[in-house]
This record gives sequence, structure tokens and C-alpha cells, in this order.
Amino acid sequence: MTSATASPSTAAAPFDASAVKADFPILSEQVNGHPLVYLDSAATSQKPLAVLDAERDFLTHTNAAVHRGAHTLAAEATELFEDARATVAGFVGAAPEQLVWTSGATMGLNLVAYSIGNAGLIRPGDEIVVTAIEHHANLIPWQELAARSGAVLRHIPAHDDGTLDTDAAASLIGERTRVVAFTHVSNVLGIVNPVADLVAMAQAAGAITVMDACQSAPHLPLDLPALGVDLAVFSGHKMLGPYGVGGLYGRTPVLEALPPFLTGGSMITTVTLDRAEYLPPPQRFEAGTQPIGPAIGLAAAVRYLDGVGLSRIHAHEGMLAERMRAGLVDIPGIRLLGDAAGVERVGLWSFDVEGVHAHDAGQYLDALGIAVRVGHHCAAPLHARFGVTASVRASTALYTTTDDVDRFVEAVAGIRPYFGV
Ligand code: PMP
Repeated sequence: MTSATASPSTAAAPFDASAVKADFPILSEQVNGHPLVYLDSAATSQKPLAVLDAERDFLTHTNAAVHRGAHTLAAEATELFEDARATVAGFVGAAPEQLVWTSGATMGLNLVAYSIGNAGLIRPGDEIVVTAIEHHANLIPWQELAARSGAVLRHIPAHDDGTLDTDAAASLIGERTRVVAFTHVSNVLGIVNPVADLVAMAQAAGAITVMDACQSAPHLPLDLPALGVDLAVFSGHKMLGPYGVGGLYGRTPVLEALPPFLTGGSMITTVTLDRAEYLPPPQRFEAGTQPIGPAIGLAAAVRYLDGVGLSRIHAHEGMLAERMRAGLVDIPGIRLLGDAAGVERVGLWSFDVEGVHAHDAGQYLDALGIAVRVGHHCAAPLHARFGVTASVRASTALYTTTDDVDRFVEAVAGIRPYFGV
């Protein structure tokens, strides 16, 4: 078993997105006769060779179920799997026992909502507060929990510029609040939300905080204990890792207070025909065979990200976001969603093209080899808030170059003329 290595870039060298790009085989493909410009990393990231190799090496040389076999491969697989947990936990500033493997962020958020409900922490008339700009994965589980428990769901609104209305949050979060759930970075607006303010308000009210870190984990340095959130989720496939794996971080006392969501093998101490005792976290939340190869792949992914350096990635993508904005605002008929000034953001813009449906705009760009997301990006209420049903979203990653952004902006300028509007 060889372990995956990081990128050629080092923290000291100037950022070279083209060198990073060369580690991602798919990014040298042609699409519709053009070199691919991949601007859909918020939906899923591309994977470097180091990640593909790590999973393949594991399956080729070590594959075995973990935590149960007496044989050599099982012991080696267990070691790699638990090393991967320590690596991924360390990536978000956490201890290994604070990281629960999930199949993805959706699974993590459902786990949390069900476990909080099953713990009896939500009673009729209690309040669950979410923002009005969430991905459906951090909205619907709370709608369902409110419906099951008789709680009231309340929403922190957004200003017209896409920033959260923290004054409204301060008046919404109070003594009835049991949970405050919010995204670190919106997958539509790209703005980094005021986590410290939200955590302070929730803590003052004695509420549990749940943060969706899907759109921050691959793009900026993330220290979850320092942010003070109780629980947070992230998604492997959006951070250079494989599909089918994600992480749930929890502060130790919070995880310890929660009952399991799924039950079955690998999460018990003793079982009789009538009852079972459960292991402590994180195993308590990991019923059944876990995504072992994907977890090892995700560890390779975060080693790759760390090898490039999250501060440098954040700065690079901030520069790309600024360049993209400067190009887009000059194009007649383009309206950016969440164009707030002076906020920290990742490399992501969603926009409306006046007179052209987002799907038509997406097809036009695709014909030029440019991959973007169109639709409501699983955030329909957010789009309704900004008066549209769909938008075009361009999102960057560490492998996005200024040339990619320039080709994209040039192509966007051609959309309305092409459709005659
Ligand atoms: N939250 C946000 C902000 C997302 O962008 C996504 C993915 N679109 C999810 C949650 C769901 O993540 P997963 O695919 O891991 O279930």
C-alpha cells in the first residue's frame, strides 16, 4: 500500500493554478470540441490523481472490512481507516473521536435532526431557527423535525445584498430556541456568513448550533472547534474526495448526549434478544459497513488540499471571484445574486441573464466547453427571495485558472446577443 502524496505546490511557492490543474486528469479533456472549463465545483469537485490512486491502492492491496476481522488485511484496513479519520478530523481542527463518517452532508444533517429529535430535546412550542438561504439539505430535515415534534420553524432573513439580517436573527433567537442551523457559505451566494455572531446568539439562548460546511471546507482554512459550533457537516465529493463519504463533526459533550440515528452492526457493546448497549461516539453513529475506500480517498484529498494550503487557495479563489465579478458586471442584462460589498466570499457567483432562461444560458455555455450549474441549486426558497426561479452558477476551485474565468466571462457576454435579447 502506497500512500497518496500531495501536490507539487508547496505552501511557500507562489500559487500556480495551472500546475495544480495538471494533477486532475479530467481537466485536460475536450468538451464539445473545446478545452473543458469546469466551473461547477460547488456541485462536485474534480478529483486529483492522488485521490484516485489512494482508493485504488486500498482496493488493490488492502481491501477488507474494518474493526472485525482477525486477519492481517482486516487489521491493516482498520489502521488505514482510522488514520483517515484522524487526518480528516485534523483537517477541520478536530480530534479523531469528534469525526463521524457519513455518506455525505445530506446524511449528516438528517442524522443530526433525527438524533436531536430522538433525544427528546425538542418539545411542542419549541423553536428551530434556520436561515432563509439554506440548501434544501439543511432546511427540509428541520421542517420534518418541527412537524414530528410540534416545534415552530423560524427563518433568519437575508438582506437584498445576500448578507444575513443579524438584527432579525438577534430577535428570532431566544429562550424557546433549541437549534440554530445555518450554512457557513451559501452554495448560491458564495458569501461567508457571520458564524461568530450566530454562535454567540445561540449560546446565549442555550441552543445547539448546526453548521453546513459543504461550501467552505474545500475553499478556506476551517477550524470547527475555534468557530465554536456544536455540530457541522461536510461532503467528501465537494472537497476533491470520492462520492459516498462525508464528515459530521461534533463537540464531544454534544455527540455524547445524542442517541444513535441508525442502528445495527458495529455500533454496539452488547446485544441481547431484547436490547442493546451502544458504543461511545463516533462509532455509535456508524452502523453497518462504512465507506472505507472513500474515507481513505477523502484523507488523500485533504492531504492534497493541505499540501497546496487553504489560505493560498482562499486567496486564489478570492482573486478569481473578483475577476469574475469585474467581468460580469460590465455585461448588460446580467444581475448577480448576493453582490454584497466588503464581505468575505469564496469563488462563486450566481446570476440572472435578463430575457434568457438559465437552462438556455447553460446550454449555450456548454456548447463552448464551459460547465456551469443552472436551476435553483437545491435552494428554491433563496431564489424566490431574490425574485427568480433559476439562476446560472459559476463556481471555482483551487484548480481554476484566470484563463478559465476569462473564457467564461467572454462567453457570457455572447449569451444575450445569441438569443437576440
Ligand atoms: N449543503 C450544501 C450547501 C451543498 O452545496 C450541498 C451539495 N449540493 C449539500 C448540502 C448536500 O451535500 P451532499 O451531496 O454531500 O449530500
